[in-house]
Amino acid sequence: AIEQVLEFRVMPYASTQLMVVVRDVTRLKQLEQMRKDFVANVSHELRTPLTVVTGYLEMMDGDMMPPPAMWNKAQNTMLEQCKRMDSLVNQLLSLSRIEGARRQDSDKVVNVPQLLGYIQTEAQSINQDKGHELIFNIDTTLDIKGAEDELRSAFSNLVFNAIHYTKPGGKIEVTWQRKNNHACFSVNDNGDGIAPEHINRLTERFYRVDKARSRTTGGSGLGLAITKHVLTRHDSQLNISSVVGKGSCFSFEFSIDKIVPQA
Ligand code: ADP
Repeated sequence: AIEQVLEFRVMPYASTQLMVVVRDVTRLKQLEQMRKDFVANVSHELRTPLTVVTGYLEMMDGDMMPPPAMWNKAQNTMLEQCKRMDSLVNQLLSLSRIEGARRQDSDKVVNVPQLLGYIQTEAQSINQDKGHELIFNIDTTLDIKGAEDELRSAFSNLVFNAIHYTKPGGKIEVTWQRKNNHACFSVNDNGDGIAPEHINRLTERFYRVDKARSRTTGGSGLGLAITKHVLTRHDSQLNISSVVGKGSCFSFEFSIDKIVPQA
């Protein structure tokens, strides 16, 4: 973290005197540091898979050609790493699209139950190797005003994270219901949970609790940053509660003015 930074400038004043102008440039320095960190993180995230792919390609060039039995493994690894880069670039694009989008783009009627239906289908397919019990409690009459693409990524990031960060055979419950005049979305899992010191930092770009493990799950650490952004644009915010060893609940809600009245 950057402490307060002051800039001093000495200037001539009334021909015989000097004047010292003090400017607080803390915020400027913080923004500059954030930009530098962001570029460093992106470069690092891209460099790791690139190193793997380059390594394999160099090995295949000339004398070090691996035996044919290894080709399949090499090909799979390279494909996996390319997919990782692809997913990172897509998430970066999505982040910059959301940041650049105008606010009035987010006022269309979104059929949330249908959207959650698509996400459920995708979740079932990802869940095949995990074997979690997936429960979807969806109010099929609850639509809201918003930006469909953005909301899709907010909903799906939370659902897919629950699948990724819960040990096989867990239980994941997704709920979209009215509660006290609000439209509420929540994802509960009985995964590993998150220690309190990490919770406030989860929505920072590239923040991951366990960097090594995320590597194997293919995450980039941008999903919750995107979700937070999307929710801010929809006048909402992400709530996270979690108990280590018990599981987590990620939720958000929309106020009544976002809910589309049913005919
Ligand atoms: P990633 O691409 O790493 O999944 P996210 O921004 O979506 O990035 O999540 C940031 C971090 O938050 C994850 O790396 C993980 O450590 C933690 N996390 C997110 N969802 C859960 C969850 N349901 N249970 C436990 N940890 C989670």
